[in-house]
Amino acid sequence: MAPHPYTTDSLLYITDRPDLIFMEGQGSWLIDHRGKRYLDVVQGWAVNCLGHCHPAMIRALDGQARKLINPSPAFYNEPMLRLAHLLTDHSCFDRVFFANSGAEANEGAVKLARRWGSRHKGGGYEIITFDGSFHGRTLATMSASGKPGWDTLYAPQVPGFPKAVFNDIASVERLIGPNTVAVMIEPVQGEGGVNVATPEFMRELRHLTLAHKLLLIVDEVQSGCGRTGRLFAYEHAEIEPDLMTLGKGIGGGVPLAALLCRAEFDCFNPGDQGGTYNGNPLITAVGCAVFDELLRPDFLEQVAQRATELRAGLLKLAAEFNFPGERGSGLLRALVLNQDIGPQIVTHARELEPRGLLVNSPRPHLLRFMPALNITADEVCDMVELLRAAICKALS
Ligand SMILES: *Cc1c(COP(=O)(O)O)cnc(C)c1O
Repeated sequence: MAPHPYTTDSLLYITDRPDLIFMEGQGSWLIDHRGKRYLDVVQGWAVNCLGHCHPAMIRALDGQARKLINPSPAFYNEPMLRLAHLLTDHSCFDRVFFANSGAEANEGAVKLARRWGSRHKGGGYEIITFDGSFHGRTLATMSASGKPGWDTLYAPQVPGFPKAVFNDIASVERLIGPNTVAVMIEPVQGEGGVNVATPEFMRELRHLTLAHKLLLIVDEVQSGCGRTGRLFAYEHAEIEPDLMTLGKGIGGGVPLAALLCRAEFDCFNPGDQGGTYNGNPLITAVGCAVFDELLRPDFLEQVAQRATELRAGLLKLAAEFNFPGERGSGLLRALVLNQDIGPQIVTHARELEPRGLLVNSPRPHLLRFMPALNITADEVCDMVELLRAAICKALS
């Protein structure tokens, strides 16, 4: 491979990265330092819901940058108010707090639940979360996460996050005690390997939390904003949660996240919660542009259509290679492999010539697909062909 002219050793080492530099992106395609093109179904980890460098986002960034970048979080600004209204008008929630990352939005949800617990649940603070869940990389959200190994990493953990079994209502009920204040769940566990909560389980959770006067918090950082073919994944179960967090797709690639709640849970005291960049107009203007695209007529139907095609393509590959199958919701899907060759397939896919494929393997026996929501039918076909070639190489 042609070397690139950059040295990388001044970055703190946190993960192994392939030795190439991405220079440009357009829609579902990324271009590296040699001009090689890659079909990208990682999209910044389910972040770029409109693909790379969408014109509506560029217009919003450029237009807002010329007007006002940051008046301070202590003042209102126009895009912040407009985006808050877009979110409350199209969900069951009434209030929005903007943040810069999914983890920060989830920290806000934990704080709001604890604040509500101190007022209305006799000081209750425990939030039941799930095995295999992922809520972020701050100390509290790592403790809330059920990722194997994270129960001891950076000890001591933040207490108050007992873990239940996903899709098992009895396991949740058993954990409810005098200090319980909430249950927090991803409607689709993304990092955990694309595990979908059944609509029945979501409804059982809603009944159980109402019966015990507990908050139901949905972490839709990955499943929200059109990813599953509905604006928010909780809609599939026809329930109304109490709190929701958004991240990733809400900014389409820029750092934006949000905590939403119904009016009765709007209980922070002034000064309890905030942040330097929260709700700044440069980023919320992009959020408005992204949301406007999601609301276009037919946008979500097209997501569902592409999801059907992607599912059919993955099932065909599964049949061809004798893999157990595929699973997921909308354009968040996984191909289940019959051996731990996920990482090898990822490497072979990237190294295909003349065009590569960027795909992710969150578990060694699993590949995850989180393409741009506006990926075309042709690109879905291309993806299946490239993936077939990569699987053949990994198996040979
Ligand atoms: C990615 C993710 C987070 C963390 O978001 P960051 O922006 O990386 O902090 C939290 N919850 C879920 C479900 C996620 O997928």
